[in-house]
Amino acid sequence: MEKNKIFLSPPHMGGNELKYIEEVFKSNYIAPLGEYVNKFEKAITEYTGAKYAVALSTATAGIQLALKVLGIQENDEVLASDFTFIGSVAGITYLGGKPIFIDSDLKSWNLDPKLLQSFINDRKARNLSLPKALVLTHLYGQMADIESIVKICKENNIFLIEDAAESLGATFNGKQSGTFGDIGVYSFNGNKILTTSGGGIVVTDNKKWADKITYYATTAREEELHYEHLEVGYNYRMSNVLAAIGTGQMEVLNERVQRKREIFNLYKSELKDLPVGFMEELPNTYGNRWLTTFYIKDSSTTPTKVIDKLQNSNIESRPLWKPMSLQKAFKNSQVHSNSIGKKLFKSGICIPSGTSLEDKEIKYISDLIKECFRV
Ligand SMILES: *Cc1c(COP(=O)(O)O)cnc(C)c1O
Repeated sequence: MEKNKIFLSPPHMGGNELKYIEEVFKSNYIAPLGEYVNKFEKAITEYTGAKYAVALSTATAGIQLALKVLGIQENDEVLASDFTFIGSVAGITYLGGKPIFIDSDLKSWNLDPKLLQSFINDRKARNLSLPKALVLTHLYGQMADIESIVKICKENNIFLIEDAAESLGATFNGKQSGTFGDIGVYSFNGNKILTTSGGGIVVTDNKKWADKITYYATTAREEELHYEHLEVGYNYRMSNVLAAIGTGQMEVLNERVQRKREIFNLYKSELKDLPVGFMEELPNTYGNRWLTTFYIKDSSTTPTKVIDKLQNSNIESRPLWKPMSLQKAFKNSQVHSNSIGKKLFKSGICIPSGTSLEDKEIKYISDLIKECFRV
């Protein structure tokens, strides 16, 4: 990687990953599967408390297969967080489904349960059917208002898929994000809190769904010696080499969460006099603070000015996610909006939050940011 550049959230190996990769090489189970896939899945079920885990090539694939085993088909409506990354919702489109986006509230930045309820009430008042599922993102590692959202989904027979791609290690009342809904999905993409270079994992307490996801992820092959197919599946399984990295990474998850939280707290205290709003934790939740983010409350500066300033010092920063309903790719999709996602997108940024950052670097970055607010 480019030397001296400060990245948003670069990979941070724990130490044992290379040793485990060497074991994979010694066993020659480079592919297809192998014991590290099992070990990685076990590490995830032990950590999260979910009963079953299936390691896949990406979280995007995991969300797609989650929707598929829950019965989503062509033309089915699926609710989703509007303020999120496209990986949350691409799977809906892959299956021919129709996303309906629900905006955020300013308190959690995550899906607003009140908007969700009002969408449902409106449908019911007009005697229209409800979408079959909701894909809920826990943004930037902070829990959405999961208790309210689970309740609404249960009352209305809507399946809940938690996109916990960014929130591995975040909890509500001590219970892990990704384990509240019917199926949860974590990502191990390059800039997530843990990484396997690329990868995803699906968790559920339902054995039938876990088995079906495994089946679809391995080309929907029947149990025959020859290749027998009743359906067309996908080739989405994680390789043993990458699972070896994941197994090593899981050993340092708690340390990583702790450091991410320290980084957030240091930025927050450094920037406390600026007119900015940080993403707060809802009561009884514990976020992993994957990325430190804030929005600018007044017109004293703009995200672009801050991003350019940092860029000049070889520091990476970015705007917040652009809501799905503002993407041309979804110009024909429905949205239930209050413009909060749009407001956050226009005024917010993510700043470097890599767990190997030193305190003095965080202070340096904070000083550069402060300079952008001086008139
Ligand atoms: C990263 C991310 C994904 C996709 O993860 P991949 O493993 O890269 O497919 C999905 N949703 C959210 C919210 C993400 O941040």
